[in-house]
Amino acid sequence: MNKAFKFRIYPNKLQGELINKTFACVRFAYNKMLSDRIEYYEETGKMLKNTPAMYKNEYEWLKEVDSLALANAQLNLNKAYKNFFRTPSIGFPKFKSRKGSHKSYTTNYVNNNIRLLDKHLVLPKLKAVKIKQHRIIPNGYKLKSVTISRTPTDKYYASILYVYEEVIEAVKINEIVGLDFSMKELYFASDGSSADYPKYYRKTLDQLRKLSRQVSHCKKGSKNRYKQRLKLAKLHEKVANQRKDFLHKKSRQIANVYDVVCVEDLDMKIMSKSLKLGKSVMDNSYGTFLSMLAYKLKDQGKHLVKIDRWYPSSKTCSACGNVKKELLLSERMYTCDTCGITLDCDYNESMNIKEEGLRQLVA
Ligand SMILES: [Zn+2]
Repeated sequence: MNKAFKFRIYPNKLQGELINKTFACVRFAYNKMLSDRIEYYEETGKMLKNTPAMYKNEYEWLKEVDSLALANAQLNLNKAYKNFFRTPSIGFPKFKSRKGSHKSYTTNYVNNNIRLLDKHLVLPKLKAVKIKQHRIIPNGYKLKSVTISRTPTDKYYASILYVYEEVIEAVKINEIVGLDFSMKELYFASDGSSADYPKYYRKTLDQLRKLSRQVSHCKKGSKNRYKQRLKLAKLHEKVANQRKDFLHKKSRQIANVYDVVCVEDLDMKIMSKSLKLGKSVMDNSYGTFLSMLAYKLKDQGKHLVKIDRWYPSSKTCSACGNVKKELLLSERMYTCDTCGITLDCDYNESMNIKEEGLRQLVA
């Protein structure tokens, strides 16, 4: 099993320069290999087997950066070729643009070249880089590779990938909950609670929408537009972080309390709900939330059960099991024509998801 831990790093000036140089060299190596391969193919009809090392005499500065990062550029290029040959619709490998907002490189662990120490991360060529390690790496985890990245707002991160052996015993099942996806609240739970997005998050979302509109009104290429765009990038980052923190917190809470969490199988259900609500843009929070929940449960020997997407969770009465033929979208309350009970629709649905999940689990 693999698991990545992402920490913020604080390179000094020289280290920062070298990291940026490595981004550039990785991009250069990738593009150079690609263009030579294209040229060679056009001339000979054959595939050129080139490597970054072949360019080091001509472009001496390639020697200054981590050679494993360059080797990974080659692997990535080979992968892009392979994907293209397997699924041509993906498209032929593309050149990496200097303007691409995503700057990163990956280096691998060999002969103790990478070490996570107290407050420092030792990396090839860079030596000890200051790191804020907010999580402890469990015993027995083996370091595999590190991806260094820089955000548009000039923050540096190290995503450290570990391999570990999975030895988790299944827990005894006591506590079960069903979660009904909610466009507005993320989810509604069968214990009566909802995720309840924090106010500050909604506030930054509103700011984000406002700022995006302002940017689109600025003249292209103007200094003002540049400034506003940087502001926008910062706000995007803030929103993404707030959202991630919130999703981590919620999934942690649920995974700690419950042994089994039942949810709906994604995509179609969500698509239909979002269409009904007329939302054109939908953030992928729920999918991220479910994947966080999945590994947090799994780590503890607990279960995430995805119920069949065709299960009529909204039309079924959670009290007597009667299935209504039709349920209007505008209805907030579920009234059963058989047993007469009236329940909040979200609550009724989450109860059904829980029951169906439990049925699937024991089946
Ligand atoms: Zn009923």
